[in-house]
Amino acid sequence: MLIRSCLVLIIVYYIQCVTSDAAVEKGLYDEKDNVTIFNGDNLLKTLSTSQTLWLVEYYSSWCGHCQEFAPIFKALAKDVAEWHMLLKVGVINCPNSMNVQICRNMSILDYPTLRFYPAFSNVSNPGETYKGDQGMNEIRREIIDYIAKHISDLKWTHERPKPILRVSGSEEVMNDLSPAPSSEPILYTAVIFEDENSYIGREVILDTSSCTNIFIRRVNVNRKDGEDLARKLGIDTNDLPQAIVIHRNGTIQNIQVKLKTRHFFTYKLTRLPGVGEPIARFNSPFSQNLSDSYNNVNQVTVDYRDVKRDKVYLADIESAIRYALTMEVAAVKVLEGKKLEGLKTFISAFVKLGEHMPARASTHAFMSDLYSWLQTQDTISYNAWMEKIVQKKKDQYLPPSNKLWVGCQPSKPSLRRYPCSLWTLFHTMSVASVNAQLPDQSLVPNAMAAYITNFFGCRECRINFMKEIKQMPYNSSTGPYSAVLWLWRIHNSVNERLHSNSSTEDPAFPKLQFPPMDMCPSCYAADRIWIEDNVAQYLITRYSKINVALDYLNFNVSLTEDEKKFEKKDKLPETKNEIWEARLQNAQSSYNGNHHENNDKHPFHPRALGSNIIGRRGVGSITGSFRLQLGFSQIDLNLCVVIWLVSVGGALCLFWGYKCRRTLFFRRKNYKHVL
Ligand SMILES: Cc1cc2nc3c(=O)[nH]c(=O)nc-3n(C[C@H](O)[C@H](O)[C@H](O)COP(=O)(O)OP(=O)(O)OC[C@H]3O[C@@H](n4cnc5c(N)ncnc54)[C@H](O)[C@@H]3O)c2cc1C
Repeated sequence: MLIRSCLVLIIVYYIQCVTSDAAVEKGLYDEKDNVTIFNGDNLLKTLSTSQTLWLVEYYSSWCGHCQEFAPIFKALAKDVAEWHMLLKVGVINCPNSMNVQICRNMSILDYPTLRFYPAFSNVSNPGETYKGDQGMNEIRREIIDYIAKHISDLKWTHERPKPILRVSGSEEVMNDLSPAPSSEPILYTAVIFEDENSYIGREVILDTSSCTNIFIRRVNVNRKDGEDLARKLGIDTNDLPQAIVIHRNGTIQNIQVKLKTRHFFTYKLTRLPGVGEPIARFNSPFSQNLSDSYNNVNQVTVDYRDVKRDKVYLADIESAIRYALTMEVAAVKVLEGKKLEGLKTFISAFVKLGEHMPARASTHAFMSDLYSWLQTQDTISYNAWMEKIVQKKKDQYLPPSNKLWVGCQPSKPSLRRYPCSLWTLFHTMSVASVNAQLPDQSLVPNAMAAYITNFFGCRECRINFMKEIKQMPYNSSTGPYSAVLWLWRIHNSVNERLHSNSSTEDPAFPKLQFPPMDMCPSCYAADRIWIEDNVAQYLITRYSKINVALDYLNFNVSLTEDEKKFEKKDKLPETKNEIWEARLQNAQSSYNGNHHENNDKHPFHPRALGSNIIGRRGVGSITGSFRLQLGFSQIDLNLCVVIWLVSVGGALCLFWGYKCRRTLFFRRKNYKHVL
């Protein structure tokens, strides 16, 4: 009984510990994908001690294009797995807290970024960024060119000869034709005749670079000596590429393939008797323990939150602000020129919206202070920026993030989250500018354009967005809701582009034209034509401060290890209680006055739209985020464990006491008997 209760308690306690941990970014790759998964600890160490070249993908698991690119990169890694004696492939997920700093040191501003590194790469070597198309063939060719450029510098410690990627001269081939001594470590030399632009020869050379007993040359028939050699050996230069094999005794064999592709040639050559299979086995350079522990860190605990479809959540807006300033803006080593201007435009728009922008008082104070400080700066170093944004004053600090997200929570790891919260932030800002009755409604479109074009990490998203705003420029003369409707149109155009056509669509949250009919029937006329005035009213109701829910707000402003380095301890409030009180008050006072209004009669109020929302939950509901669905809090469980330990200890003492008394009793009895 005791043992059983002990087990139950331990299991419940363990579940609690696991689920209360902050979720860590789940990556898009695992080691079955023929890639080495790097982190902040091992990337530089590996690059600086590696005998081979490396291709590393820096990515972000939330970035839509990284998600779409992942299957291409996995296929590429598999395709070049047999080239591992010359080049290896690795990946690193930058938003993972372990990796933030290394990505910043490597100046990664765009996701995905592909970088090539030479062998024994110096830690200060920035690598070579791949700038071409992200198709598999284009990248493979770039890999081949990179290997060709660096192969002569590679230290070669393998038994088989180092592959040669350059074009061989006729003299070298003629040498191969003379019978080789039996001490020669290879049985065959193959020669591939091809034209200038062909990559097949180099691909076959690399595919067989880990095979024993075969060495491959390529000959360019567009060169005079290549053409002469082909003629001399009877090669049909009208049907290229062609391959021959020279046996050790000097005899020549033509290689016939069904299709003149890389894989057919590789297959035929590696089936020659005595040729060893290519070694495609993927060996991570890290010990089993390291990769296992890393994978454990990579696990995500999904604590599904009950959310209302018609609500917008302050927790998401806060997460967007924090991520934007601590990750995307902070990714820039020196803020100056266009980027600094873009940042000022974004922060100044937030400040101008004043109390119409849903945010805690502490966030408003923080943004105002940041804005004043920015006005005095021409250039900001990374250190100065971090020092500025991590400082916590009693009533003024950057809001905490909510790692599990709320309205933007995904049904599968890697989807939604940050980009969803960024849209939410800008929609909320556009509605705040209507509510603030700002004469210049271009404030938010300009702020959004400034932020996205300068800082948004998803490169393809940024490029697409820039095209979209060119096609649909903001026009202030379209009425008081011009900014709200402009942003709505842009967002719907992105939704249309991505709907059913993208691996980034969360099946539980399809990218429909927004708002769908069930959320706003009055937004549609017959034939599903928008009634834009009603759409504007719907958006204004949805994204107004009054509709922003406080559920699941995070009150714990915890800093990452990286951020802690910039924290000045003396500026912190003194007691924990004081911090708690200050935060509660900030969140409450920020929303005072909005709670008691009765909006049920508003035609666009969620209840009027048939929603099941019956009221704002208020600050009291925040405890929900600290509890397991089982209903236990961390304190409950800690208390249970203590009580259980005391009870078990007590029971053991009683049992021991009883045993001693019993022994004493029998001893006395026996003694009497002897007497
Ligand atoms: C500027 C920008 C450009 C992007 N470009 C790309 C891209 O090119 N390729 C790519 O893969 N990903 C892109 N993304 C990411 C993509 O748009 C989504 O944000 C991401 O896939 C998450 O989708 P989601 O399902 O959470 O909904 P999101 O599209 O992020 O929407 C968030 C929420 O906003 C509401 N909403 C939806 N549409 C509207 C609307 N028209 N008006 C008002 N509210 C609305 C809904 O409640 C929705 O849940 C971009 C993101 C941004 C911010």
